[in-house]
Amino acid sequence: MPQGRLFVVAGPSGAGKGTLISELLRRYPAVWLSISATTRKPRQGETDGVQYRFLSENEFGEMVAREDFLEWAEVHGNLYGTPAGGVLERLARGQDVILEIDVQGAKQVREKMPEAVSVFVLPPSSAALEERLRRRGTEDEAELQQRLRNALEECREKDEYQYVVVNDQLHRAADEFCAIYERESRLHE
Ligand code: 5GP
Repeated sequence: MPQGRLFVVAGPSGAGKGTLISELLRRYPAVWLSISATTRKPRQGETDGVQYRFLSENEFGEMVAREDFLEWAEVHGNLYGTPAGGVLERLARGQDVILEIDVQGAKQVREKMPEAVSVFVLPPSSAALEERLRRRGTEDEAELQQRLRNALEECREKDEYQYVVVNDQLHRAADEFCAIYERESRLHE
């Protein structure tokens, strides 16, 4: 059986990666979205094991020491990592896998698994990004400012990716994102 395809989706917080991925999963339910581990505190409505595995710094450190992560990084002051086991098992079974991670993690994955398809989701402007983050309302002002500063840095790396999707209008961007998936999974056959 051929290996599944690995899709790495990165881009600044608030660019809309999650929304594009949700639409892809709605259209292609067989694709598996990896659940990351993080030391960030759960937000209201988040459940352990659903959006993330919420770990203490010690637990996260143990996973790092055991080399359980495919990649990990410090993002906006918290640790985030992709547990390797689930990803590798699914790819081996022929299932396509998506990682929604930051640019540092994406770089590590591109180095380890050069066959991965990389997609950068770009907000249409910094004003639009700020508006989205404010509307989402999941950060306090200091965290929001940190995310905006980091966004500028992250966007400088977009040329390292095979595809860049500008998330200007949700439907258009979702169609483009899904077309990339369709093209890359067909190429793989
Ligand atoms: P949030 O705290 O808003 O859920 O996520 C913050 C940032 O961490 C986002 O850019 C998200 O893509 C990134 N992130 C989430 N999971 C992982 C992961 O497993 N590894 C890395 N490197 N970044 C992650």
